[in-house]
Amino acid sequence: MGFERFGRVNFISQTKTDAFVDYLENKGLHATKCSACGQTFFPPRADCSSCLGCDMTWLEVDDQGRLVSFTRAYFAPTGFEGDVPYVLAVADFNSIKVFGRFKTGFSEDDLYPGMDVKVKPLSLPDGQISYEFVPA
Ligand SMILES: [Zn+2]
Repeated sequence: MGFERFGRVNFISQTKTDAFVDYLENKGLHATKCSACGQTFFPPRADCSSCLGCDMTWLEVDDQGRLVSFTRAYFAPTGFEGDVPYVLAVADFNSIKVFGRFKTGFSEDDLYPGMDVKVKPLSLPDGQISYEFVPA
């Protein structure tokens, strides 16, 4: 099972980081880490942009992070038009920055930089898998 199950709109079905989707569904959010130089990547990368190495290992993203920044989106790309408005956010999980949407129903008035957040796997109605931020 590959990337075709991730998110609402996808342009590729298989990548060298397919395991991301299985990890997300069963073990939580994962990043990749370069075995040569230690650089971490989220979204996961199969090759290191720092040292060009390709020996990557999976790294479980910490369970709890801190909200760094957020904004409300009123216009959305293809596949997300029916969801607006929604809150987009960046959170820091032990120096791994994760970009995503906040759970439906939360507005920017409920959020503040530095608040504790978690990543929750999200099963979409069509069987797709994604994730969202929730307060920790
Ligand atoms: Zn590297």
